[in-house]
Amino acid sequence: MLIAYSDAIIYENQHPQLVFSLPNFKGEQTLLEIYQKKQLLDNFSINNQIINVPLPDNIKLDQDLTEIELVVSNKTEKQFFTYSVLKLSENEPYIICDIDFTISATNFILYLSNNILSIKSLKYSADTLNDLSHHYKIIYLTGRLDLHSRVTKIWLSNHGFPKGPIIARSRQDLRGLAKFKINALEKIVPVSAQGIGIGDLRSDITAYRYHGLLPIHIRRLPYFYKSNDHYKFKNGYYRVKTWKGIQKLFNEKLLNQ
Ligand SMILES: [Mg+2]
Repeated sequence: MLIAYSDAIIYENQHPQLVFSLPNFKGEQTLLEIYQKKQLLDNFSINNQIINVPLPDNIKLDQDLTEIELVVSNKTEKQFFTYSVLKLSENEPYIICDIDFTISATNFILYLSNNILSIKSLKYSADTLNDLSHHYKIIYLTGRLDLHSRVTKIWLSNHGFPKGPIIARSRQDLRGLAKFKINALEKIVPVSAQGIGIGDLRSDITAYRYHGLLPIHIRRLPYFYKSNDHYKFKNGYYRVKTWKGIQKLFNEKLLNQ
């Protein structure tokens, strides 16, 4: 059973929607159960490929991040996934972090053969993001297809990354990566423009700059990353070679502003 989704980001007292799709749903009898901390909040049958409903009123929303466990089952299959709801307040600081080649040493063979869990993370990326998560909310914005959000979330957890919503690309989205990211940020930046974006691609930097976020470009140099902690600011954005560089940049410049 395939499940495709992006997590939710809500603002202040907004009530969250649950949005996901079942790309290979063919009308078979399917049940959705919604749990929070192992307590059943609601259950109902699904009769459509796309589910878009308000989350139950008895949900307890955390000040920061709320996690909901979902179980989708039919006669032959059962699938579990975690749905996250991040609350973002006005002018709150946050980090938008790309995934592939930014925190993940992505190997396309593993990616395309559904072995995402075997992919390694980039050195110091999880530690650094954990430290930064005390100062910033963390949002993962990825060009990965939303079919992979479920496994990507497990991967993030297995590698010790801080929790955060994943915003991923839908299969129908044929725009380029920059347009996809610009569009995704359109819902976040009006609430708070206090964002810092980290990414490895020019399209990441384009999207962050488009919205006036401060970009950090990490170079894609997988075997050269161990000790280089230099950073420099040029043409409106920071450039680093490693997560050590990101650590130093935050410690020396960004955390003391
Ligand atoms: Mg990338």
